[in-house]
Amino acid sequence: MGKILWVDLTDGTFKEVDVPEELYQQYLGGFGLAAKYIYENTPKNVDPLGPDAILGFFPGFLTGTLAPLTGRYMVAGKSPLTGTWGDSHCGGFFGPEIKKSGYDGILIKGIASSPKIITIINNEKQIIDAADIWGLDTIETEERLLDRYSGSRIASIGVAGEKLSLISGIVNDKGRIAARSGLGAVMGSKKLKAIVLKGNQKIELEDKDALTQLVKEYNNGISTASVGSIKLWSDLGTPWMNDIVAKTGDAPIKNWGGTSAEDFTVENLNKITGLELDKFKEKKYGCFGCPVQCGAILKVPQINIKETHRPEYETCASFGHLLLNDDLLSIIEINELCNRGGIDTISVGGTVAYTIECYENGLLNNDDVDGLELNWGNSKAIVELVKKIINRNGIGDILADGSKIASEKLGKGAEYAIHSMGQELAMHSPKYYKSLGMSYAFDPTPGRHTSGCLDIMVGGPLMKPDGLFSGFSLPKKFKRPSEDRNEALKSVSALWQATSCTGLCEFAYFFQKYPLIEFIKSIAGWDITMDDIVKIGKRIQTLRQSFNIREGINMTKNKLPERAVGVDYVADYRVYCESFGWDPENGKPLKETLSELNLDFVIKDLY
Ligand code: SF4
Repeated sequence: MGKILWVDLTDGTFKEVDVPEELYQQYLGGFGLAAKYIYENTPKNVDPLGPDAILGFFPGFLTGTLAPLTGRYMVAGKSPLTGTWGDSHCGGFFGPEIKKSGYDGILIKGIASSPKIITIINNEKQIIDAADIWGLDTIETEERLLDRYSGSRIASIGVAGEKLSLISGIVNDKGRIAARSGLGAVMGSKKLKAIVLKGNQKIELEDKDALTQLVKEYNNGISTASVGSIKLWSDLGTPWMNDIVAKTGDAPIKNWGGTSAEDFTVENLNKITGLELDKFKEKKYGCFGCPVQCGAILKVPQINIKETHRPEYETCASFGHLLLNDDLLSIIEINELCNRGGIDTISVGGTVAYTIECYENGLLNNDDVDGLELNWGNSKAIVELVKKIINRNGIGDILADGSKIASEKLGKGAEYAIHSMGQELAMHSPKYYKSLGMSYAFDPTPGRHTSGCLDIMVGGPLMKPDGLFSGFSLPKKFKRPSEDRNEALKSVSALWQATSCTGLCEFAYFFQKYPLIEFIKSIAGWDITMDDIVKIGKRIQTLRQSFNIREGINMTKNKLPERAVGVDYVADYRVYCESFGWDPENGKPLKETLSELNLDFVIKDLY
């Protein structure tokens, strides 16, 4: 769109800034472009909940075009949870609406004097009082705002973000959430309840005919894995894996301390499968421009829910496997509560697991947890505890910032808090995906499974090695320790940064090779290679890393909880740093690396 928008909530002003073509060529869009602007405009050691902190909403480079599976946007800023660079990604329809509103990104700074919403309706920008909707949950908020701004797309925070929970996120489409990194608290600190967008601008295309032909060919070639007549992705969504990943050893059981064979057996797993969830399905849905449609709306009269999003695998595992809870209705209810409250299900599940393990081992008693009987699998007590966390009630006030901070405040149970720099680990194990330990410990946004982990991208049960992108191939022996593997760790990590910044859904890799450079050429007219894409990714990753180094963070000192350790992730990271041109002692990008990647503006901060 050629422009980004700055919004200053302190003085209530807007400012449009042109984005030079070369910045798109260097960062594409999404969190890459956000990193460039946020790095350059944020003072060192900024308070992430203070007025100088910047919160960015950036759609991917291809978002809003017809290129399939590219409907994502990214929220970015300094994470108040980990103190590191934070970004969090989300599908749905909000990302394309940023483009339709005329922008490739919206950057928000300052703090409003009272609750506000930002509206951009058919090019008219306003900051409007939101006292009447402050305190509402995200679905009530959307419904109220849709009454006022028919046809708009909305991103909002719930009560958790308002109450500055450090594990809160930002919700769009009544239940899609940019959940990780605690960025909902940043929005809450700015007293910004919602952003409401309705646009009418079009994206200029270099070659519309070529794009249309590419879309047709891609959509015709999609093959999603099936079992009998059931298409795993488009019929069951991510919960297709609920039982399988427990059996393979990938899913963490009993707060990462148990096994499927002993603690959460086939009998338990059979109660929470994708097929069981499918019994409640009302209809399918998907993100903008997606031919797969992996989402679903459920109707669950048993718990008086007329319409709710089907919980994703991460949520099912966070409140199922991790807590030994096989009560599927409780998982659906908790998912709805978390979507409404605007809070990260992975972190809430990990924090509940911490609390249960403290309780089971006598570190917390009934009085400490407001009378709840917090035993493994007690779904009623788990639901009540989640409500308390969302609303900061009783023990929930201590737990609302995640398990690490809770263990510090309570002064006990640190060994049961399974996190990386404060962010709870996602529901995949480094014992199964070997390079995941390195991602969890050392990615500039630690604790996430969506961060370019080689073994997740090419090693899952449905993955096809070398099947990621046309024009990109992995070195042959990448599965065993070797030079080939070192090269693959680097190139896939870099590749992921760049492809995410196009807005591409990570599941695209499951369906067939994605003709990324062909799509980019048809849309922007650039003759770009996959090597160029990898270099862009290396630049973005190095800038995210530089943000942390400037904050004084030495990522190499971070340690994972023993329960989550598979292979020697520290040794892996030394090799990773060397291959990225970073100092393996402290992760600091070398001067020549920064120059080679056009990141000279960083040198003065790091040297
Ligand atoms: S596969 Fe699912 S998450 Fe990915 S773009 Fe399609 S609907 Fe969205």
